[in-house]
Amino acid sequence: MAIPIIEIDRVSKSFGHLEVLNELSFTVKPGEKLALIGPSGSGKTTILRILMTLETISGGHIRIEGEELWHMPRNGALVPADERHLHKMRAKIGMVFQLFNLFPHMTVLENVTLAPMLTKGTSKPEAKRRAMELLEMVGMAQKADAKPAQLSGGQKQRVAIARALALQPKIMLFDEVTSALDPELVEEVLNVMHRLARATDMTMLLVTHEMSFAHDFADRVLFFDRGRIVEEGPPDQIFTRPQHERTQAFLKKIL
Ligand code: ADP
Repeated sequence: MAIPIIEIDRVSKSFGHLEVLNELSFTVKPGEKLALIGPSGSGKTTILRILMTLETISGGHIRIEGEELWHMPRNGALVPADERHLHKMRAKIGMVFQLFNLFPHMTVLENVTLAPMLTKGTSKPEAKRRAMELLEMVGMAQKADAKPAQLSGGQKQRVAIARALALQPKIMLFDEVTSALDPELVEEVLNVMHRLARATDMTMLLVTHEMSFAHDFADRVLFFDRGRIVEEGPPDQIFTRPQHERTQAFLKKIL
């Protein structure tokens, strides 16, 4: 069997006394599109933030392409990762947040070209060429010279997606990317993500409350409750024939 691109191995995470994840384990295959669903507070976003190294872990191991994320080998033992190691691992992963986080004083094009030029040493013409391709893909090329303040929420989010893609990550994490949007703007963002999911062999993890989107987007759905996976399976199974009563109750409430 191929090495999983992501291996979450008995990962625990507490914030003070609050235990959010308790020995959570799951793996993700290269290219897999995964949807994480479940009630608010069940730990979904925390998992993405840990993968993005925005949060540390309290126990367990995470491996990306077989390599430890939070630890590194030294003298035959595993020691906590240093900044350099985290930097290297981080380059494999991109994330799109609920609240866009675009740089307000920069144009759309500058937002997309900045990171490749700074972190990868990409030349300006090459970064621009690639950014325009990505902006084309998300339907935002005509706004390349606009500032974020001149864009709608849906447009900002599409630029944020292009910006994350510009670093060519192997893994993309999407955290509730439509939940801050007015309802009429949700569709355009979901359409872009749908097209993206079909067009690439990138591995994608999506946290969402849009169940019909999760159904269309994902190869596999994980249902979380209180930091545990209660049930997982292909979308058809989870959404039409959930086995566990907690999944049934959640879906009944949300659909
Ligand atoms: P979900 O994404 O499923 O809604 P989260 O991962 O955001 O859940 O949160 C899980 C739990 O962890 C919640 O109870 C939340 O309040 C708590 N939590 C998340 N981040 C922090 C933090 N930085 N400090 C303290 N508690 C946090």
